[in-house]
Amino acid sequence: MRVVTSIAGVRGAVDDARAKGLKVGFVPTMGYLHDGHLALVAASRQRAPFTVMSIFVNPTQFGPKEDYANYPRDEAGDEAKARSAGVDLLFRPTRDTMYGASTHITVSAGPLADLWEGAIRPGHFTGVLTIVAKLFNIVTPDVAVFGQKDFQQATLIRAMVDALDFRVELVIHPTQRESDGLAMSSRNSYLSADERIRARCLSRALKQVHSMFASGETGTPALERAGRQVFAGRKDVAVDYLAVVHPDDLSPAPEARAGCAVMVAARVGKTRLLDNTILGEREEWMSSVPAAP
Ligand code: AMP
Repeated sequence: MRVVTSIAGVRGAVDDARAKGLKVGFVPTMGYLHDGHLALVAASRQRAPFTVMSIFVNPTQFGPKEDYANYPRDEAGDEAKARSAGVDLLFRPTRDTMYGASTHITVSAGPLADLWEGAIRPGHFTGVLTIVAKLFNIVTPDVAVFGQKDFQQATLIRAMVDALDFRVELVIHPTQRESDGLAMSSRNSYLSADERIRARCLSRALKQVHSMFASGETGTPALERAGRQVFAGRKDVAVDYLAVVHPDDLSPAPEARAGCAVMVAARVGKTRLLDNTILGEREEWMSSVPAAP
């Protein structure tokens, strides 16, 4: 695995790979790698023999009161994990490399970015789409892999690729979970032992909604109420939203149907966690997770 910090370094290595006839896969991350990230690498390697990973904690997607400065970082650990997962090229730019010229020109994320996460984190998706567009222009991947875990982000990136005609195939990979159902996330490292247990509420609420839908309930108010009920009385856990939405435009679905997404965001102590599920799809992890928190 080669590690580069410059844009020219990435372009040279990608040109070399292409000259050998290799397809290029790409996995953008903010580092502090876990098995969710590494599953994306495996998915990229299945489709392209040359995989690029970027690690960049992107300042423009954090609000002024958010955790940019404290976001977990582990340079040596990440490098070892990326290497053993089979990453060919690791791109670790500095803030200056990515934003030296300007932060004034951005990708406008449109109305989808005002919903859910965007309503709570104004400007977040402008930051996300701008950095992803820049990284796409640097890496020029044939295939780029993102996680379903960040469902709204994946939906917006798909919309950007369509709207701006990026020549890249997108793959959205299923969420990787801990054995108790908690979606893996770099931010789980913020949780105390006690909070870590309470964090189970998110996946259990999703399981509750998923199984009610499977047994025939399609009324969104009833489904959402049942999901929120899982959080009831939990000390120091606050739901920001739990919603059944249409998968393409993320608008609230008055009546649930197969293919709708259930998105949840909650604060456990000071840590914001996200999760989601797709109704009507069999999700293996649910069978091994107890229903009650
Ligand atoms: P991040 O480093 O949090 O920006 O995430 C980088 C990529 O990994 C994004 O496409 C995320 O959606 C994806 N990702 C994060 N957590 C998981 C997970 N538990 N399972 C699958 N993909 C994930």
